[in-house]
Amino acid sequence: MLTIPCPWCGERDVHEFRSGGEAHLKRESRTDNLSDAEWADFLFLRANPKGEHAERWYHVHGCRRWFNAVRNTHTDTILAVYKPGEAKSEVSQ
Ligand SMILES: [Zn+2]
Repeated sequence: MLTIPCPWCGERDVHEFRSGGEAHLKRESRTDNLSDAEWADFLFLRANPKGEHAERWYHVHGCRRWFNAVRNTHTDTILAVYKPGEAKSEVSQ
């Protein structure tokens, strides 16, 4: 059973959470100057690494807060969690 340690609530079952996708995406403030290809990249292209991946998670059945987690996509294990605004946790596998 996969568990995720919420930074506010502690260790909880993965079913209490919703994934918010890749963390630390650069959001364009002005999109009217983008080409169609740049706009498509902005909307649809995401990293899909095999290994360490920084992700956003929402504790929907708990504190209802967003946080970031570093997950190993190969082993499906959570390596670190940190609150929004905090620096990305550096982990070694
Ligand atoms: Zn929580």
